[in-house]
Amino acid sequence: MAEEKREFQAEVAKLLEIVVHSLYSNKEIFLRELVSNASDACDKLRYAAQTEPHLAEGDGEYKIRLTVDTAAGTLTIADNGIGMNRDDLVANLGTIAKSGTAEFMSRLSGDQSKDMALIGQFGVGFYSAFMVADKVRVVTRKAGEQHGWAWESDGKGSFTIAPAEGAARGASITLTMRDDAKEFLEAHRLTSIIKRYSDHIAIPVILAEGDGGGEGDKTINSASALWTRSKSDISTEQYKEFYHHVAHAFDEPFLTIHYKAEGAIEYTGLLFVPGSKPFDLFSPERKNHLKLYVKRVFITDQAEGLLPPYLRFLRGIVDSQDLPLNVSREMLQHNPVLAKIKTGLVKRVLSELKKKAEDDQAAYLTFWEEFGPVLKEGIYEDFERKAEILALSRFRSTATDGWTSLAEAVARMKDGQEALYFATGDSVESLKKSPQLEGFLAKGIEVLLLTDPIDEFWVPAVGEFEGKALKAVTEGGLDLGKIKGDDKADADRPAPADSGDLDLLIAGLKLSLGDAVKDVKASERLTSSAVCLVIEEGQMSMHLEKLLKAHRQ
Ligand code: ADP
Ligand code: MG
Repeated sequence: MAEEKREFQAEVAKLLEIVVHSLYSNKEIFLRELVSNASDACDKLRYAAQTEPHLAEGDGEYKIRLTVDTAAGTLTIADNGIGMNRDDLVANLGTIAKSGTAEFMSRLSGDQSKDMALIGQFGVGFYSAFMVADKVRVVTRKAGEQHGWAWESDGKGSFTIAPAEGAARGASITLTMRDDAKEFLEAHRLTSIIKRYSDHIAIPVILAEGDGGGEGDKTINSASALWTRSKSDISTEQYKEFYHHVAHAFDEPFLTIHYKAEGAIEYTGLLFVPGSKPFDLFSPERKNHLKLYVKRVFITDQAEGLLPPYLRFLRGIVDSQDLPLNVSREMLQHNPVLAKIKTGLVKRVLSELKKKAEDDQAAYLTFWEEFGPVLKEGIYEDFERKAEILALSRFRSTATDGWTSLAEAVARMKDGQEALYFATGDSVESLKKSPQLEGFLAKGIEVLLLTDPIDEFWVPAVGEFEGKALKAVTEGGLDLGKIKGDDKADADRPAPADSGDLDLLIAGLKLSLGDAVKDVKASERLTSSAVCLVIEEGQMSMHLEKLLKAHRQ
């Protein structure tokens, strides 16, 4: 087969354009990305060789080699991992298969630093090579296959693929450096970048010195998986780099949780709560992003049962001692060991969040603002943890400009008040102006202002907090008369209308409104507005009705 020329998918072409023209600030990360891919490729082969040992035959010592050719101005990053065949090359290095790509592209603003952070989350990955190289050539042979392939591109819209005889198993990526990126041909520069970003990679990264004879070879990273080291030997900086590696992130992790579970079930968890929302947090798959290892061998990053969807914002790894090494991804579906690990992870994460909420309220609220809407899904999805998650939840309320917990709202309840009241809507501002709230505000009775779509689901499902019913202000049967509100508000209240006049008015209104309303009633909930709409007790809330209509359901 001769050389074939192909166009990049439109999204890739656009991404490359941005990568080359605007991401100048942090070029050195190309090396982190390529080494990370090489390490992934070795992990994948190690996993595959568990069940098909012939795949790794003759070369079972995984490594990543960097070679500089000063005369040619090239840097080569070579691994002996799984490699790619022709179809893999077209799919992996010509398209972006990730879900949410189109939406992601539309969010790029043109502002370099913002886009950089976004792209970091999204993971430009391989394409970051074009930040430093005019030309990128990938020579690769897939484990278990006979023929090798060469992929080449200048990053300007198209690439070529041609057969490559004699290619070694794995992938070798050669970058012809741009004039302004020659610094990445210097050994000390490469060494310091690898130490900084890739020290935690479990596979040796070797810098080949001299002309590839192997004599001057030096392993430049620690080559032991970070999570296997003891906590006291790991610096904050190293944790952060590891987080950047597993999460494709650029930000500071909000929380780092590293622990070893011992006893009935043994595993190590190194988990991070990101500092800001990952781009696909609300994509419909609700997948978790933890990487599962068994005795330091990477198994999958698609272990569905490892974490409930309401903790999908977590990033990191879990390394199990108890699962068999040859566990297939299918076998993981209903695996009891995995289920136990999941229980342990949930317990640990919720208790760490609780600690944070107690120790550093202000920081906890920054977490809540990013991930609260996701965590709240757990209130009705995880029956056993419902109370715990409710206690971690924070709400807007008429009683404060900030956030409140339900416990604080209970403590503020008035004499005679039996329920916690809430209103649902699109924004705190519009809710505060709602006539539905007038009677409550006048009496100084607190109303929780719920503005996340998810609130429409958990509130009715849960119905109460510590024995106090949760009641919508829009429910018709509310009787505010029984609650002893603030005295001043009661005094300001206009004298009640003569009940005969009121009956007459109601009869007249019923007559003229006819079928448009179900009933007309006198109410205590209004002070300055004349009327408001309410729902029958037990009916769908008005806000939910609006949400569902908006989604045409
Ligand atoms: P990501 O690593 O997030 O999947 P990248 O853009 O870094 O995204 O890489 C795209 C894909 O190309 C990888 O998922 C992998 O399938 C493939 N790939 C990249 N580098 C290698 C390599 N050295 N060996 C084998 N496959 C690779
Ligand atoms: Mg990658």
